[in-house]
Amino acid sequence: MASRGTILLTGGAGFIGSHVAVEVAAAGWTPVILDNFCTSERSVVERVGELLGSPVRCIGADIRDAQAMHAALGSISAHAVIHLAGLKAVGESVEKPELYQDNNVRGTEVLLAAMDRFGVRRMVFSSSCTVYGTPQRLPIDESHPLSAINPYGQTKLDIERMLDRWVDAGPDRHVCSLRYFNPVGAHASALIGESPLGIPNNLMPFVVKVARGELPELGVFGGDWPTPDGTGVRDYIHVVDLARGHVAALERLDSMHHERINLGTGVGASVLEVVHAFERVNGVKVPYAIRPRRAGDAAAAYADPSLADRRLGWRARLGLDEMVRDAWAFANRCG
Ligand code: NAD
Ligand code: UDP
Repeated sequence: MASRGTILLTGGAGFIGSHVAVEVAAAGWTPVILDNFCTSERSVVERVGELLGSPVRCIGADIRDAQAMHAALGSISAHAVIHLAGLKAVGESVEKPELYQDNNVRGTEVLLAAMDRFGVRRMVFSSSCTVYGTPQRLPIDESHPLSAINPYGQTKLDIERMLDRWVDAGPDRHVCSLRYFNPVGAHASALIGESPLGIPNNLMPFVVKVARGELPELGVFGGDWPTPDGTGVRDYIHVVDLARGHVAALERLDSMHHERINLGTGVGASVLEVVHAFERVNGVKVPYAIRPRRAGDAAAAYADPSLADRRLGWRARLGLDEMVRDAWAFANRCG
């Protein structure tokens, strides 16, 4: 089958980008990965190729390097860019706010300038539900007030605003900012998934390490939240559903100026629900202890995903059982 065109995936070697590359290819486009591998491994690109049955082109480059970005965009004829490259650790962003501004915000500026130079007018951007700050109402729809509660969140807000200016600055430009809720899980093949470096910050990778015996127990951050079981509630979304959402956005980009769209399931799960689903589905124990609340956390956050349904014809299909099953299978892929 002839390719429908080339899609450049910045950050395409990462957790989400690798799954997006697979879905983009399955939809008939040719993905090209661009990554500097600061938080990912080169072998991911080979594994994506293995999954697809043919190698995927990969450009080793930093989005902040204007020359490298010109060379990259000059060497392909990109129909669109899916811009996933970015640093995402909230704690690190508090310690190094300048690094986050430089990598995420200035990096996007450099990328957009290179796109301008080569006439690339379409972008799907990896935004985050962190732009809503502390939830004022639930479920969270796209008109919920915006605020940054940490430097990482500030970079997502800054980039969304930069993209507003970008679409206004030239004719026929199209952007979709996808505001992800909590992506988890892995590809059903167990060839690609999430492998954070060091001790994980996020719940699912932490649960996986505890289940494998690499960490002694899960600290549950707060057992007295105003939620049904007292533990924090989030909208976990399977990474393959999330990746499909990017293809849906890509297909409809030309009808958009700059739209912001939530990608979530609309269903909240508590920390203990995640732990219990993990134990039941995978037949393993996840020892845990209730600890004090984590600074900056909210009791509950979940999406109103109805705009994604209306605008993209997209809905999440996979549930918590598939998320915990696939996260576990990926963690055990090498024994
Ligand atoms: P990840 O760390 O696995 O992937 C990010 C990729 O970007 C990595 O491969 C990294 O090497 C690359 N990268 C970072 N800076 C770069 C640069 N300057 N030049 C080139 N490559 C660079 O993270 P992920 O979970 O796949 O996240 C992808 C995007 O989605 C990020 O923008 C993140 O902020 C956003 N996001 C993630 C989550 C989540 O929970 N995982 C939630 C909301 C939004
Ligand atoms: N959480 C927890 N222990 C951990 C990590 C997270 O209890 O070791 C809780 C956290 O308080 C929140 C939920 O799990 O209620 C999801 O946290 P995560 O950091 O994965 O996502 P975010 O809070 O950024 O939505």
